[in-house]
Amino acid sequence: MAADARDPRETPAMQQYYRFKKRHPDCVLLFRIGDFYELFDDDAVTVSKAIGLTLTQRTAGVPMCGMPYHQLDTYLKRLIAQGFRVAVCEQLMEASQAPKGLVPRAVTRVLTPGTLVDESLLESEAPTTLAAIVFTGDGDDSPASLAVVEVATGLFTLIDCHHNTIADELARRGVRELLYAAADLKPAPRVKKVLYTLGLSGTPRASWQFRVSEALEALTTHFKVSTLAGFGLSETDPALPAAGAIIRYLLETQTLSDEDAKTAATAGVASTRASLKHLRPPRREDPASFVTIDAVSLRALEIEKTIRGQSSASAGALEGSLLGVFLTAVTGPRSVIRTPMGKRTLRDWLCRPLRDLAAIEARQHAVATLIDDRTLAAQLGDILNNIQDIARIAGRVSLGRATPRDLVGLARSLDKADALLEAIEGVPALTTIETRIRDARDTITPIASAVLAACVEEPPAHLRDGGLIRDGFDAALDEARLLQRDAGAWLSDYQSRLVTQHKLPGLKLGFNNVSGYYIELPQAQSRNAPPELTRKQTLKNAERYTTPELREYETKVTSAESRGLDRERHIFTHLCEQATAALAPIALFSDTVAELDVLLGFADKAQRRGWTRPTMVSEPALQIHAGRHPVLDESLGGDFVPNDIELGARSAFAYPTDAHSESPSHRLTASPSHSPSLALITGPNMAGKSTYIRQTALLCLLAHTGSFIPADRATIGLIDRLFTRIGADDALHAGQSTFMVEMIETANILNHATPSSLVILDEIGRGTSTLDGLSLAWAIVEHLASPLHLPTSSPPHSPGPRTLFATHYHELTDLEERLPGRVTNLHVAVREWPGGDAHAEIVFLHRILPGRTDQSYGLHVARLAGIPASVVSRGREVLASLAVHTHGAATTFPINAPSTTTAKPDTKKVPKPRAIDTDAQMPLFTQYINHPAIAALKEVKLDSLTPLQAFDALRQLKQLTSE
Ligand code: ADP
Repeated sequence: MAADARDPRETPAMQQYYRFKKRHPDCVLLFRIGDFYELFDDDAVTVSKAIGLTLTQRTAGVPMCGMPYHQLDTYLKRLIAQGFRVAVCEQLMEASQAPKGLVPRAVTRVLTPGTLVDESLLESEAPTTLAAIVFTGDGDDSPASLAVVEVATGLFTLIDCHHNTIADELARRGVRELLYAAADLKPAPRVKKVLYTLGLSGTPRASWQFRVSEALEALTTHFKVSTLAGFGLSETDPALPAAGAIIRYLLETQTLSDEDAKTAATAGVASTRASLKHLRPPRREDPASFVTIDAVSLRALEIEKTIRGQSSASAGALEGSLLGVFLTAVTGPRSVIRTPMGKRTLRDWLCRPLRDLAAIEARQHAVATLIDDRTLAAQLGDILNNIQDIARIAGRVSLGRATPRDLVGLARSLDKADALLEAIEGVPALTTIETRIRDARDTITPIASAVLAACVEEPPAHLRDGGLIRDGFDAALDEARLLQRDAGAWLSDYQSRLVTQHKLPGLKLGFNNVSGYYIELPQAQSRNAPPELTRKQTLKNAERYTTPELREYETKVTSAESRGLDRERHIFTHLCEQATAALAPIALFSDTVAELDVLLGFADKAQRRGWTRPTMVSEPALQIHAGRHPVLDESLGGDFVPNDIELGARSAFAYPTDAHSESPSHRLTASPSHSPSLALITGPNMAGKSTYIRQTALLCLLAHTGSFIPADRATIGLIDRLFTRIGADDALHAGQSTFMVEMIETANILNHATPSSLVILDEIGRGTSTLDGLSLAWAIVEHLASPLHLPTSSPPHSPGPRTLFATHYHELTDLEERLPGRVTNLHVAVREWPGGDAHAEIVFLHRILPGRTDQSYGLHVARLAGIPASVVSRGREVLASLAVHTHGAATTFPINAPSTTTAKPDTKKVPKPRAIDTDAQMPLFTQYINHPAIAALKEVKLDSLTPLQAFDALRQLKQLTSE
């Protein structure tokens, strides 16, 4: 940008602007000038277009747009939503106070998608996090290590993961920004893949920042330790480079640069420097402690958002999800969780349920206690209702971004420690919680008292408004305020003096921000103004004046005001520093309150909706009696039909029978110690298959969080991984065909499910031709039901994973007989009201019963959906004729037993292969479809045939069939 002497870009302010811009080339720079934040050049052009600001020119040729300083938050929100990174450059002092020349400025913060901390920019129920990634090998399938930081609360986690689960881990943790090492700013293909899957743009960082030595230095310097051993981290930890890179990035974006800090110190405003003290030491997470749920399953089961709402940030996304059952209930209180930290913790528990029996039972014990003792529950509820978002406020205090309301809110919340302790003292199920609050109490209560003693009950929104500190708290502040008040009294006294002295009844004293204090006379009386009144401004109906005496008082008031504000700022900063020094106990208190809040929410939900405590066991059992879908049960109320399930270990359990169940011989025939591990669920569309299998997954998952569940009783064995294959997930697999997505997801399940997993499959094989689909579905069921295919680490003779397989392929139900004790058939009952074939009515009973179904009722469903009667009736004719051809196909489905290439079949259980050529599997189907007679028949045009031609055609067909 060459500039000659007259170039408007050569002014000192613009030169200063360009210096900052050069340091933050990837950000739009908001440059504070007086009461506005201004943007220039390309920034101005792009931003004005993106968020609808008026584009002007600072001087000819320099595009500019701006926003009033007090609307910064609103505009930041819009900019962030549009994907901009924003650097905010502040004036470090008022222009009037600045030493001559330029106002000193500094970039006080850089807002990036992963580092947001302002309440208005964050969702309260979900975390916004930043992650850094390193790969621990060169190949595309080498494992990765991640460092994840939630800047708003300071949580810092390290995780190692398989290359397949990187995107899952990042999605689950709310990662909005990913740092990666890049020599030339371009992501390597494997990073690109992750970014693409998550829809993130990614933030390239210099490769040296990911060096182990650099990381060690960054971490030990930041946490002021000589070794990381105290954090349980070795110097060879694979995630160390990611952790180091993240620290460097945070220091760069969240705190003042050294250069800016120097400017600030010179200007005497060093206290604006933000700290990252709230950042907790990095903690390794052991994936073995949690049930693994991949991102596909989280979405498909609508754990935290409904599928319809996944892409939008609308509030509607929560409603209808499992999380929504607790936070947006239709009956009773909308949310049973009372604090924002509690809401985020619940989300975390639902996305990462526990796999540790003792830990689950400890939570259940607490929930049971809170159900039994409703007085205690009510008391705790009242206290928790008054606790604010401690975790995020503490983060803002540390980063120097807290408001007066934040500080007072924090103090009021911390002040609840004593009340909580009093309530839970001596309650055995809450001992751990009590101990943790007690540990934090001694540090946090004095801070709360100090803040509450200093600050007023209703604090102002901004420090600059004044009025945060109580009268009588600080002598210097009181003195300044007295002067201001005295000045007020003096002004009214002065007004009466002028009125009497000059006999001007219309004379008034006034004030506005632009012209300060003034004396105003109506136009009619202005002729009589005495000479000591100096004219200041002429309005339509009035004249404004000033006097030397008035000017003198104005100065006195203004300086008292600014002294008062300085004093308030000083006290506020001091209180914030006290809180910053106690960030660890504050975090402990916040985490504990969040946990208590969720446990209380579980108890409230269970008590209101009649949920019961599942018995958790370590064997792969799954027995649920009268289970209900948590979301539908809530919305349908009493109309939801409860259902049972039994799979896997132990079997003192029987399905109910009624008029629609099949004969007792179809009931489960498992050995007493083991029921089949795989259930095939058949039934018409809309009958409730999908609801049933989802419900089972949701109940298992809820049980692992320590929550009670909507069922009469249940025994659930610990699950290591939950797999689902339900519907196409377009967002995560853009660019792939639905069938491809289905196969990728199924492959993942077949390759990774263990005897402890839970697998939910809905309509596998639908995306391809009937025969292909049926064959695949058949083989998949065999694979999952047979231990021979499980990973080698599985114990010998172990059953397959507990699996629910909803399908419209009735042929699969043969597998119950072929794999006895391993596969069981269930179907959804339908009641058929006679009314003649064409008019038969069906009623969906939504009742799951043992045995297979022999009808799909597709035509009935089509009629219910409004397909024209003529089409339905033609469909019936076609069905009848097809039934003639395929009759017997299901019973004589000539499929071989599982291939013996991978392992020896269990000859006792699997019937011997029939004497059929293996190349000719399913001959009936293939011959039927491909037979030349069929092709010829298709060509025949009946309407145009003469009787003779018809006879000829028949003869040719006959010939073809005998060839
Ligand atoms: P399918 O998978 O068999 O096509 P769905 O599970 O999608 O059927 O169920 C269709 C509808 O039936 C659901 O939207 C729900 O409203 C209703 N439904 C399913 N199960 C039940 C049940 N147990 N009780 C009451 N209504 C149910």
